[in-house]
Amino acid sequence: MYEVIIGLEIHAELLTDSKIWCGCSTRFGADANTQVCPICLGLPGTLPVLNERALELAVKAGLALGCEINRFSKFDRKNYFYPDLPKAYQISQYDLPLCRNGAVEFEANGEIRRVRINRVHLEEEAGKSVHSGDNIMGSEYSLIDYNRGGVPLIEIVTEPDLRSPEEARLFMEKLRTILLYAGVSDCRMEEGSLRVDANISLRPFGETELRERAEVKNLNSFRALQRALEYEVRRQSAILDAGQRVEQDTRHWNDQKGVTISMRSKEDAEDYRYFPDPDLVPVVLTEEQIETWRRELPELPDQKAARFISQYGLPAYDARVLTSSKAMADFFEAAVERFGEPKTVSNWVMVEVQRLVNEAGIEFDALPIGPGDLAGLLELVKRGTISNNVGKEVLEEMFKTGKSAADIVKERGLEQISDTGELEAIVEQVIAENPGPVQDVRDGKEKAIGFLVGQVMKLTKGKANPKMVNELLRQKLTGGA
Ligand code: ZN
Ligand code: MN
Repeated sequence: MYEVIIGLEIHAELLTDSKIWCGCSTRFGADANTQVCPICLGLPGTLPVLNERALELAVKAGLALGCEINRFSKFDRKNYFYPDLPKAYQISQYDLPLCRNGAVEFEANGEIRRVRINRVHLEEEAGKSVHSGDNIMGSEYSLIDYNRGGVPLIEIVTEPDLRSPEEARLFMEKLRTILLYAGVSDCRMEEGSLRVDANISLRPFGETELRERAEVKNLNSFRALQRALEYEVRRQSAILDAGQRVEQDTRHWNDQKGVTISMRSKEDAEDYRYFPDPDLVPVVLTEEQIETWRRELPELPDQKAARFISQYGLPAYDARVLTSSKAMADFFEAAVERFGEPKTVSNWVMVEVQRLVNEAGIEFDALPIGPGDLAGLLELVKRGTISNNVGKEVLEEMFKTGKSAADIVKERGLEQISDTGELEAIVEQVIAENPGPVQDVRDGKEKAIGFLVGQVMKLTKGKANPKMVNELLRQKLTGGA
């Protein structure tokens, strides 16, 4: 058994309309090489000009992650040769990044964990290689799409504070939530606008030095991140168990085979020959500018969760679940505004609505029903028009058809039978048909009454008001309620 040490490097594309150094569109999904110009193609004689909106979003990301913002930062050239990089260097930030020293808290196994953020810096995207085969190794040729080249990107580097593959996944879920709340990135992993690389090493418990690490790339989902790290824990444990040293390298995750494969020995910073970009002036921010952007940030997940606890009296667990998606938190609040009873609404949203969302495989913001629709349903349950259980069925139907709860209840005749006369007749019938259990109840066997209630519910196809049935049975059999 070894202590697992994980640090992450996250890249997130910023939500700007145009690229970082030119006016080309950043829209995803256009035909290859239709959103390019001499600047983002790196043609000689062109000059980059910083997109101010990219700077604003990068600073806001840093603030949302609890970072200090450097009043003075600059851009550097990171030199490496790869076909998707037309200039043969990436404009990035080296020794003076925009943001430093942040932290993110998240929950793992009932415990609050804290991960320090070393830095957040601003840089440009490279183009995208499109391989003729399934992957680079098995391809005859590759084509390059430069539409993505020059899209603004932030790189977030954590300290090696994560202690298990599961923690790495939970941290990423929280980080994604924060970036989405802050409105700085759409964080679509499937479109590549959020990417994560992981550094992982193992050491015997008690040791304080870091050992050689592997950097794992090509992690296309949070699940892939956790699986790849679990594989690395097994691989590196076996090496250490055999008394050998892990070789520092960069590894590629193969999701189908469930293994990481060594691509190259890991390069060090000096291999990139960083130097300040002479085409760009340093970034100088005023305290006033930073404060303006700080004020513009919306309420973030942790703040919202704290408010849900104090304002609505929700348990911490509910507050955390509800705020894990901004769409879900907004839906909850809007439903409470209409219906009241925060804990009731919370239960329905966290359990029933969430279940339908999961089953449909959609995001919460694509929910086909509105908070007013849920409030309408809860009103019917509260008034006793339908039972809680029938309410769940109605919700499912609302989800499928988009009809209102009231319409579904009317169309399908789901109203609970609360008419005493009608119920009395059915109760009499059940008493007449079940002499055995009836005698049991008269003899004081409490359990038998449940059976009789069940019989009434069966005859009424679940529509009888169970509380009234219970009372009626007690009155008739024992003379009291
Ligand atoms: Zn361009
Ligand atoms: Mn980078």
